[in-house]
Amino acid sequence: MTDCIFCKIAAKQIPTKAVYEDDDVIAFNDTNPAAPVHFLIVPKQHIATLADCNESHGALLSKMMLLAPKLAQEQGCGYAEAEGVGSGGFKTLFNTGPDGGQEVYHLHLHVIGGPRPWRGLR
Ligand code: 5GP
Ligand code: ZN
Repeated sequence: MTDCIFCKIAAKQIPTKAVYEDDDVIAFNDTNPAAPVHFLIVPKQHIATLADCNESHGALLSKMMLLAPKLAQEQGCGYAEAEGVGSGGFKTLFNTGPDGGQEVYHLHLHVIGGPRPWRGLR
């Protein structure tokens, strides 16, 4: 998609520091973070929304979801549990469509964490 901001980031037409990248996905910090840690996991392939996904996207979605805790750990908001007491942790979020609050119509998984309180988020 020529006019898609996340396609441009994925194609390096807009220089953006990646927190992770492979052949299928790129992850980078949100420009308007809602919490101390807020990054986006974005497929390089243009898919507008989660509602546009089907079974053929299963491996990609799985990769995105499994990257979330791994990258959260690396970015300093991993979840840890010791002797039954948990600490840290993060929120994972796909906004879908206008009523879902989606602003960028290129699929992305928000990973939001760090010490609370967070702006406008429970
Ligand atoms: P949405 O509401 O679509 O789920 O979230 C889009 C997110 O992308 C927003 O949190 C917004 O701050 C972020 N964002 C929009 N444009 C850019 C950009 O050019 N670079 C980065 N790093 N984040 C962006
Ligand atoms: Zn795109």
